[in-house]
Amino acid sequence: MWKQGKALILVTGASRGLGQAISVEMCQFNNPTLVLISRDLDGLQKTSEMCLNVNNKCSVILKQLDLNSASKEDLRSNVQDLGQDFDTLVVVHNAGSLGNQGTKVLEFDQASVMQDYFNLNIVSVMILNSVVFKQFKDVKSKYVINISSLAALQPFETWGFYCSGKAARDSLFKVMAVEEPDIKVLNYAPGPLDTQMIKDLLDDPGTHVNIRQAFEGMKKTDSMLKPETSAKKLIRILEEDKYQSGDHVDFFD
Ligand code: NDP
Repeated sequence: MWKQGKALILVTGASRGLGQAISVEMCQFNNPTLVLISRDLDGLQKTSEMCLNVNNKCSVILKQLDLNSASKEDLRSNVQDLGQDFDTLVVVHNAGSLGNQGTKVLEFDQASVMQDYFNLNIVSVMILNSVVFKQFKDVKSKYVINISSLAALQPFETWGFYCSGKAARDSLFKVMAVEEPDIKVLNYAPGPLDTQMIKDLLDDPGTHVNIRQAFEGMKKTDSMLKPETSAKKLIRILEEDKYQSGDHVDFFD
């Protein structure tokens, strides 16, 4: 059972949006130690206040880190002072970016732009996993959640970075599930969320017309989800525990 004992919960991209909502949901169980990671300290502080308002017995540790440039040593030094006395470890890889809008796959020709994108969305995820699961290898119950997307399964025009990044992440976590039977792995696609990511997408003049129309349509019909709704569903999936390690589970499943 994922909520048993003393828990350490790490959430990347916890300064706003889905990461903030997941942090608030997760802080409600067994007075955990929450480690919230992002670049924006003000946003992290807000998340911390929200968590403590819900459960003033949880401990919240803020780590201001740019996952695009953080080295293995940076990541290691940020987790090695957390202690070892935990029964449960939950790592939520939520930080992510959409990448340049309006660019087709055949126009991808700048290595530095690609490296930047995949550094944040793939490389940092792998290094954080390696560092954290080595550091906490003796923790009895271990869970990792990859925040995925429909885009991991389905192509969208001009989303070459986003689709391939999410597909690669799903694949990596599926491999991890077969390699590490003592870590329960979930690829969770949270549904379309009304967050800063989508505001930025709609504000970007480069956004492809089909993508723009799809998101504008969802906004008009009020069919985008609140991050809190999707975070609650994630908790329910974990509680019900009906998924196989490595599964891709969508909000709408
Ligand atoms: P937001 O853009 O609102 O939040 C993204 C989070 O990632 C922020 O907390 C941001 O923090 C963090 N982040 C971005 N870059 C970095 C970086 N270099 N280093 C550290 N942290 C970083 O996005 P959402 O809440 O909408 O999305 C969260 C996840 O859900 C993403 O993985 C996204 O792909 C996925 N998703 C979203 C959907 C949607 O419709 N919104 C649909 C399906 C999946 P900061 O800027 O403070 O560093």
